[in-house]
Amino acid sequence: MIDFQNIIEGIHKELKDEMNRGLVASYIPELSNIDAQNFGIHVKHMNGKSYAIGQWNVPFSIQSISKALSLALALPIYKESIWERVDVEPSGNPFNHLTLLELENGIPRNPFINAGAIAIADMLVSHFDNPKQAFLEYVRDLANDQSITFNYDVARSERQTGFGNFAAANLLKSFHNLENDVDEVLDLYFHQCSIEMTCEQLSNAFFMFANHGKCLQQKQHLTQSQAKRINAIMLTCGFYDEAGEFAFEVGLPGKSGVGGGIIALLPNHFTITIWSPGLNEKGNSLLGMKALEQFTTKTKLSIF
Ligand code: GLU
Repeated sequence: MIDFQNIIEGIHKELKDEMNRGLVASYIPELSNIDAQNFGIHVKHMNGKSYAIGQWNVPFSIQSISKALSLALALPIYKESIWERVDVEPSGNPFNHLTLLELENGIPRNPFINAGAIAIADMLVSHFDNPKQAFLEYVRDLANDQSITFNYDVARSERQTGFGNFAAANLLKSFHNLENDVDEVLDLYFHQCSIEMTCEQLSNAFFMFANHGKCLQQKQHLTQSQAKRINAIMLTCGFYDEAGEFAFEVGLPGKSGVGGGIIALLPNHFTITIWSPGLNEKGNSLLGMKALEQFTTKTKLSIF
């Protein structure tokens, strides 16, 4: 049996005093004020055991990690018709890039670039009477933790600075790929990004992706095939325009966010969440990438 605790302690020890830890996101004050020294790791094994080190129990802004969860909520509702409105190809462009959206007639390249996540948010707005509450309850359910909530200051700041997201939503609307009001859809999108979770809560919430669609409480949220598909999208599109590099270095499906969180998983084995708020130039947690590379090297566990 692999000694996960020993391995993550070794990685934490080696990286925790690293001088070069990237830059925290600076586009809103709530993120730019986060201490870059934070560094937490949490592993949830399929056998139920957990392993953790550092600031694994401090809530942080999940940001784009929420895009995997909104897709997971929408997929069982819309099933295959989802792919008529959002494609599944890596974009090779930054998460907020709009040129491809125009060239490709308003069909976002994948559900994890902002335009794609906004199209998914639109589907949730069409389906639920109170989409923000429905999404929050879904996340709480998956993590089995009712304390998870929005950070309303972050949601407000996202809205005040979200010109690119307004542009993306309007472009989608002009191509008839947005059913609802731009404001209403972005209200959900900004709130989903503002949710705060700890490494442990994220490892628990993503457990279902490693467990063929069944969450920690053994409820079947996704079919096995739906879980497989979302894992495939996480592998090919989960890391902005660094997805190839992440597959190359780490070899796991995962999703990152500009709050400095990375969740990754190996089906049938574990989920792992790392939080270190300093980002590399592609917007992924710098220490998070390094720690995960070491983790899959030391455990010899990856999908490859
Ligand atoms: N709220 C951010 C935005 O839409 C998401 C950033 C991210 O984590 O990629 O710009």
